[in-house]
Amino acid sequence: MVLAQLGGSISRALQQMSNATVIDEKVLTECLNEIARALLQSDVQFKLVRDLQNNIKKIVNLDDLAAGHNKRKIIQQAIFSELCKILDPGKPSFTPKKGKASVVMFVGLQGSGKTTTCTKYAFHHQKKGWKPALVCADTFRAGAFDQLKQNATKAKIPFYGSYMESDPVKIAVEGVERFRQENCDLIIVDTSGRHKQEAALFEEMRQVSEATKPDLVIFVMDSSIGQAAFDQAQAFKKSVSVGAVIITKMDGHAKGGGALSAVAATKSPVIFIGTGEHMDEFEVFDVKPFVSRLLG
Ligand code: GDP
Repeated sequence: MVLAQLGGSISRALQQMSNATVIDEKVLTECLNEIARALLQSDVQFKLVRDLQNNIKKIVNLDDLAAGHNKRKIIQQAIFSELCKILDPGKPSFTPKKGKASVVMFVGLQGSGKTTTCTKYAFHHQKKGWKPALVCADTFRAGAFDQLKQNATKAKIPFYGSYMESDPVKIAVEGVERFRQENCDLIIVDTSGRHKQEAALFEEMRQVSEATKPDLVIFVMDSSIGQAAFDQAQAFKKSVSVGAVIITKMDGHAKGGGALSAVAATKSPVIFIGTGEHMDEFEVFDVKPFVSRLLG
């Protein structure tokens, strides 16, 4: 279910409840079940939906509803605040400081949009006066270095990589060292992906992370992966210390639910979303407007 449809389904469930002459436990439960179905169809993880349902039941006071207060509003507000709570892990991610070298490592499966997002992230900061640089430590996918090189050249961002070297750790270390010497303040390391979650990938991520000691590891996730989001995010979190999440492909048929799962699994905030293939189709993520959009 795409974002706009989710809002519509929730509104309909609330409307049906408002139409009932008496709001009792049964009517409220039916309404919450309807909302839960809508959230599940939008790829919010089952456990998160169940917890959300229980929390809303605790928050919403049936006597208030029966007394004729605006029922829709009371429940809508409870859903809003519960969704915001899931998306806010309670602590902000590490924020690089302009003028002080930070290493930011990107991880994610192949096709998630990692390489594209590295450039978008670099470009976003470059426009604000930073000196970013890109390191291609993806030696797994043929063409990865060419893609990064092409993107970097277009955005006029310095880059480092190799056609010959097959050791991603060596390239990552050399690239980070080079750009530290050149006084870059945002050194972005793009890493390999695989089509599936594989032990070899996680071991490689662990090694690159150990060698480059990133200040921040960003997990990049395709918004269309559905219910797989939680497990995928958790698998990356187990091998490297993911500190932030970027959700890509939020344009088109994007489902919002995966974002909630990724935050819950990594206990890290979403910091940006990708909204298209172009370099500037990239938005700072803000919890409240996102949830408002989700609810329609
Ligand atoms: P990687 O294998 O994870 O490095 O993924 P890529 O950066 O090569 O991206 C895979 C595909 O997704 C490419 O065709 C990108 O243009 C596309 N892509 C990346 N981010 C977005 C996005 O936010 N929206 C859309 N529509 N496409 C995206």
